[in-house]
Amino acid sequence: MSDKITDKQTDVVVLGAGIVGVSAAVAARQRGLSVVLVDRREPGNETSYGNAGILSSGSILPLNRPSLFGTLPRYLTNRHAALRWNPAWAIRNIDWVVRFLANAAPSRLRPRAAALHGLLGASLKLHREWIVKANAGQRIRETGWLKAWRSDAVDAAKEEQAFLAEYGIESRLLDRQAISALEPNILPVYKVGLLHSQTASVDSPGEVVKAYARMFAGLGGDIRQSEIRAIVPDGTGWRVVLAAGEISARHVVVALGPWSAELLRPLGYRVPLAFERGYHQEFKPNPARSLLRPIHDAEGSFLMTPMEQGIRVTSGVELTARDAPSSFAQLDTVVPAARSVVEFGEAVGEPWRGARPTLPDSLPMIGPAPRHPGLWLSFGHQHIGFTTGPATGAAIAAMIAGAEPPFDAAPFSPGRYL
Ligand SMILES: Cc1cc2nc3c(=O)[nH]c(=O)nc-3n(C[C@H](O)[C@H](O)[C@H](O)COP(=O)(O)OP(=O)(O)OC[C@H]3O[C@@H](n4cnc5c(N)ncnc54)[C@H](O)[C@@H]3O)c2cc1C
Repeated sequence: MSDKITDKQTDVVVLGAGIVGVSAAVAARQRGLSVVLVDRREPGNETSYGNAGILSSGSILPLNRPSLFGTLPRYLTNRHAALRWNPAWAIRNIDWVVRFLANAAPSRLRPRAAALHGLLGASLKLHREWIVKANAGQRIRETGWLKAWRSDAVDAAKEEQAFLAEYGIESRLLDRQAISALEPNILPVYKVGLLHSQTASVDSPGEVVKAYARMFAGLGGDIRQSEIRAIVPDGTGWRVVLAAGEISARHVVVALGPWSAELLRPLGYRVPLAFERGYHQEFKPNPARSLLRPIHDAEGSFLMTPMEQGIRVTSGVELTARDAPSSFAQLDTVVPAARSVVEFGEAVGEPWRGARPTLPDSLPMIGPAPRHPGLWLSFGHQHIGFTTGPATGAAIAAMIAGAEPPFDAAPFSPGRYL
């Protein structure tokens, strides 16, 4: 996989083998195109590895929604588990911050929810199909996703339920007893719950991406491991410069997740991409007290997902530079809170850090680069990229082939920012 690449020509080269790139590679190969997938690491080893593994049908409410204005004062103290932010970063990126907040206006909510609903629905359908085809069907759980409140937040839960219902997304409102019946092994700390019943989850997101990558290889796809250095226009096509050589292609798909903006800068594109960093730590489960589904502690601002290696506790958002040193303050806050819900043992492995790539409107870019035919942009999937990778890939492959994407891709057009 890491041998010298010379005279390699292909229809499509996909840059980045996270869930988004692997999905684009699978979908392009399914359309009969020759495809090379390149990453410096093995598939599914970065952001697509460390997430909470939720395949969400209901994540149509972006973080920058009207209720954000009500919670902002709490976040300004910089001590809340939901959001930590680096003031120096915020000043340097004030343009992004202002645009992100402007998108929280009420008028911006429903158009984005509708767009995300289309993308999520199409993607869940593909995940359910692909995970079986990729011989990883045992990894998916159709047990839903439980959002739970310790306070008497019935009104908040009902409001969310009504909003989801507008889009035909099912959920069940639960009281303390119903929560205990659903999750018999947790302590009765939650008063109110909302079960997103059409949501699924997996027990190892990284392994699912690897299974999709094997499916791609099985379809005749070519996977190469190398640092990608540059994308250069070359006649009517492209030359991708790698540490391990070069590849010529008619089409280039940029699916580099949080690293996507840098390689586009020399082509004149300034992508307003920021990083909602997040952490996880896994813990040895008590087999007699296991979780049956992911739980989102709404007020504690953390998630707990039963994974292959143990219970994965994931943190909220840290807004700072992508590569700034880690701060474990949020994990330190939420882990004791998680222990008050479910019994688990000592930590397994080291804490993990990733960066959710986010554009100011919290919608990904899916489509053609405005000034370069054959260059396709496919990144910025914020909190829901593991779910939305497959339909994103299918849309890019469809556009390359001149066909219709499986959802309305117009709201995701890169032209809105570039
Ligand atoms: C804590 C946390 C929890 C989350 N939970 C969920 C969840 O439950 N459900 C959900 O749907 N989403 C979730 N997400 C979001 C989701 O993980 C991301 O949106 C998604 O993984 C992004 O995928 P990607 O393919 O765009 O990026 P990545 O998975 O990061 O892939 C990008 C790839 O590009 C490669 N690369 C970058 N630069 C270069 C280079 N120069 N040369 C070679 N290779 C390069 C990297 O090695 C990497 O493999 C979560 C994210 C975090 C951080």
